[in-house]
Amino acid sequence: MKAQWHSNRRKEDLKISEKYREMSPAMQNRRELTFLFQEAAFAEKMILYHVIDLEYLDESKKELFLKDLPEARSVIFLGTPIFEPLLLMEQTIYGSRDEKKTTMVESQVECDLRSFSDKLETMGYDVTIKLPTILPDPAFAELLALTRAGFRGKNQRLIIEHFGCRICVGYLVSNAPLMGGDYRYPDFDQNQCGDCQLCLEACSAGALTEGGYDAKRCRDYRDDPKNQKRIAAHSIEKCNRCMASCPLGAKTNWA
Ligand code: SF4
Ligand code: SF4
Repeated sequence: MKAQWHSNRRKEDLKISEKYREMSPAMQNRRELTFLFQEAAFAEKMILYHVIDLEYLDESKKELFLKDLPEARSVIFLGTPIFEPLLLMEQTIYGSRDEKKTTMVESQVECDLRSFSDKLETMGYDVTIKLPTILPDPAFAELLALTRAGFRGKNQRLIIEHFGCRICVGYLVSNAPLMGGDYRYPDFDQNQCGDCQLCLEACSAGALTEGGYDAKRCRDYRDDPKNQKRIAAHSIEKCNRCMASCPLGAKTNWA
């Protein structure tokens, strides 16, 4: 079992795989850079922090990231748990140029992504940011599952250990030569949905089916004022039943 950020870490928990053990100056730089960012994630108590080294990813999957940044070498995933449904309340934020609709948890993850992006750019690396979504998204969930920190559940969301699908995740693509892996959590990539159908049954829009998701149905249902709850003048709660109904993830059980 690898160490978690909230437990005491031991040297033997920080296993460096064989491919990163070479004693060249270039590899030494990679190790130092990797642990610098790992420490930042520890310090900022990121619940999900995972790096993929694109050198070791299949060509077809690598393309998904190279289209964002052709010379990319690594991807950093950052995620924060949704401990209560109020974090999913949609708010209208008025800026100097435009208005923007967002949720508190998406804003939080965007801040984290921008903070890590600044760190990388300060060191001279190029970065692109992929903001999180709080909607089901099969392609995005599949991409997040490349971390092996979780799997794509029937509700078309990433499901990770302890926190289930109630986690909001975005990522950064950069040309920083970071080593891949996560030195805190064991892999959690075995699908655990089994015969459960709770999220499919909870979706009043009929947008979720076994293995499928109709994004238009989901959006139409969520955007219909009849299916929304007004919390304050510029804050509404939209449907999140497929997230709320999932029994996996005891640490974020809203009940
Ligand atoms: S339960 Fe709500 S959020 Fe989930 S798929 Fe159905 S309409 Fe969309
Ligand atoms: S509610 Fe059940 S079927 Fe749906 S994602 Fe969770 S465990 Fe899987």
